[in-house]
Amino acid sequence: MPDPGTEQDCLFCRIVSGEIPTSIVASNASAIAFPDIAPQAPLHVLVVPRRHAPDVAALAAEAPTVLADLVALAREVAETEADGQFRLIFNTGARSGQSVFHVHAHVLGNADLGWTPA
Ligand code: AMP
Repeated sequence: MPDPGTEQDCLFCRIVSGEIPTSIVASNASAIAFPDIAPQAPLHVLVVPRRHAPDVAALAAEAPTVLADLVALAREVAETEADGQFRLIFNTGARSGQSVFHVHAHVLGNADLGWTPA
């Protein structure tokens, strides 16, 4: 049986559990940070809560302190891996570009970022 709060077939639950290896950039009690496999900026790190929730709205409703911890970890990554400035993106729903339905924040930085999402 999987641990409570995990989903057996969820890619990011399998990364959180260590079943799928990654390179951990930073972590805290609630979340882990690891490089995106297909980076879209010089700094592109994913911050993922240890507990499963399908998207950021669900996490905010179910566990707001975990969401706060996730944002704190994103800031820590931006401070240690970049100059402290960053863009935080939560794609929410397939139409927004969400492809992994375990909430994750994209932390983008180390560049002068453009703004052309559509
Ligand atoms: P989204 O499209 O917002 O759901 O973001 C999912 C992200 O996960 C994409 O940017 C993918 O490149 C990234 N991704 C998929 N598989 C992996 C993996 N095994 N390790 C790291 N990043 C991944």
